[in-house]
Amino acid sequence: IMSSSDAAARIEEAIKSNKVAIFSKTYCPFCKKVKGLFNELNTTYYALELDVIDKNEAALLQDALKQRTGMSTVPNVFVSGQHIGGCDDTLKFHQQEKLLPLLGIENGTTNSNPFEYDLVVIGGGSGGLAASKEAAKLGKKVAVCDFVKPSPAGTAWGLGGTCVNVGCIPKKLMHQSALLGQALSDATAFGWKVSEAPVHDWATLVEGVQNHIGSLNWGYRVALKQANVTYLNEFAEFVDDHTILTTNKRNKTRQVTSRDFLIAVGGRPRYPDIPGALEYGVTSDDLFSLPYNPGKTLCIGASYIALECAGFLASFGMDTTVMVRSILLRGFDQQIASLIGEHMETHNVRFLRGWIPVSIEKIGDGTPANLLVKYKSTETGEIQQEEYNTVVFAIGRDPCTPNLKLQNAGVELSSKTGKVLTNEADQSNIPNIYAIGDVAENRPELTPVAIQAGILLAKRLYAGSKVLTDYDKVPTTVFTPMEYGCCGLSEEDAEAKYGANNIEVYHTAFQPLECAVPKRDENRCYAKLIVNKLENERVVGFHYLGPNAGEITQGFAVAIKLNATKDVFDNLIGIHPTCAEIFTTLTITKSSGLSALKTGC
Ligand code: FAD
Ligand code: NDP
Repeated sequence: IMSSSDAAARIEEAIKSNKVAIFSKTYCPFCKKVKGLFNELNTTYYALELDVIDKNEAALLQDALKQRTGMSTVPNVFVSGQHIGGCDDTLKFHQQEKLLPLLGIENGTTNSNPFEYDLVVIGGGSGGLAASKEAAKLGKKVAVCDFVKPSPAGTAWGLGGTCVNVGCIPKKLMHQSALLGQALSDATAFGWKVSEAPVHDWATLVEGVQNHIGSLNWGYRVALKQANVTYLNEFAEFVDDHTILTTNKRNKTRQVTSRDFLIAVGGRPRYPDIPGALEYGVTSDDLFSLPYNPGKTLCIGASYIALECAGFLASFGMDTTVMVRSILLRGFDQQIASLIGEHMETHNVRFLRGWIPVSIEKIGDGTPANLLVKYKSTETGEIQQEEYNTVVFAIGRDPCTPNLKLQNAGVELSSKTGKVLTNEADQSNIPNIYAIGDVAENRPELTPVAIQAGILLAKRLYAGSKVLTDYDKVPTTVFTPMEYGCCGLSEEDAEAKYGANNIEVYHTAFQPLECAVPKRDENRCYAKLIVNKLENERVVGFHYLGPNAGEITQGFAVAIKLNATKDVFDNLIGIHPTCAEIFTTLTITKSSGLSALKTGC
């Protein structure tokens, strides 16, 4: 919490360490005018945007400014430690030819910003686009470099990064198609006469999904233009800590300089080092635009991507197998991971547990082809083989750092993951180079995380904000046929952190009302709250397996972030009849040994 003396000290620090310090508000036209003047003079300024930072801090800073300068209005401008005044004062100071000498610029020949840009963002995905637009909004000269190298199968895409083109968006749309399939089969029990058995058409789905993505790509280009961000459809690599070399698709190169750089290059799917993987395998980079029905499909891997893809493929009626090396959903609550596996098995997904692929061979032409997959038992080493039409690798993602030539700028990478090492303010070991999103070490690989990090970084860099991204208790949802949302700790992690004796688990299985009439998925949904008994039963883990998990988890995550205790959930009145209301009536504890199976409403 800031005190009056802290506020005064912060102002002195800003004045002392910046040739030009402007206390400003982003919406104020006079502030914009004065910043425009310094931009014209090609002079870097530090702006503390009082409407962007915490309201209480802003009030204290404004009081301190009033005490120091007698002015309570913005802009309030200081140059080389000297107080100049507001907008008119600064313009007059310039007219009187006093400003340039104070800035150390003689006859307008020298400028204090030797760089083309204030900020160059490398990577136009979730994080990069958010950061670049925010920085430009704060008056900075910004460019975004975004270039997509085609996948080994030859798939490429437009602006927007992984989420929009080959991640969250097409995945969720395909999941929606799967949910509609389920709804169609439930419909007859609800009185609908469906004259023919519904048939899924892969090509129509892909066309619809890709058309939507095309419109998003276009929207992002327009948004960059409107925000005054320069879009460079070029691949970037570092020359030094203030210079990159960019290459466009015609192999034309140029050098671009910037005061600051943001690395937001994300990651790409990993391939196993086995014969035939690159030639015949595909990944999530290819699946959502596959121009032919994938047919009998093997999904290799057992985390988010493998399970989500297997879920929608099986629901379209494809013969679908998941090859699991060890466990499902490493890092997630393992009880729920098992429930997801059991549910998928009852919904036509076959699991090969304890196997890894050895080779893929093409044994028949056609579209899709016939592929012979050999695979080995992780326990006995036994080799088996089976034919598939499509093999999808979902065995993790590697950061796009190897081709960035980060060594030229001296940026340190994790030796284990190849990701950029950053401090809590997303800054690398090189002070003017930052990293956010999937490429940064120890950050959840999720779109909203990258976006939040990008916006807050721009505000810290160019508006004087001190607010850090809070990477704790990030809610997430796995869009398997039965969706799973969680926030906070898994039961395993809660036990490890607080001790098995200090936690309690409140839980229940249930059947959503909408599943009761078609008589499906009885007791397949599940709700669980993990509480810390030593902190008045503070809820440290929220887990929900059931319909609309993303929507439900997003709402309850606020309570978890606010450290709600179990009695807050108990005192909350439910909305009936919903699935979410189950969290207001959880009474069965695991320690009681009572059954968590639910009967009746
Ligand atoms: P990205 O979005 O990956 O963007 C990086 C960009 O940089 C890319 O366009 C890349 O081509 C470009 N680039 C790389 N190197 C260079 C270079 N040298 N020069 C120029 N450009 C370069 N998250 C969720 O929150 N919810 C979900 O449901 C979800 N589903 C997903 C499903 C799948 C199949 C996948 C793969 C991911 C999913 N994610 C999901 C994760 C989410 O997509 C990522 O966390 C998010 O896109 C990361 O954003 P980013 O800005 O770090 O990088
Ligand atoms: P993960 O890194 O989460 O999981 C990799 C999986 O592949 C694990 O099951 C792992 O098994 C297995 N694996 C690794 N190497 C091999 C191998 N050589 N042979 C066989 N299996 C192997 O990767 P994902 O690609 O699923 O997801 C990447 C990230 O994308 C996620 O962490 C998530 O943050 C994000 N994402 C988010 C989604 C969402 O929000 N709904 C959806 C999809 C992705 P093991 O456990 O044995 O190591």
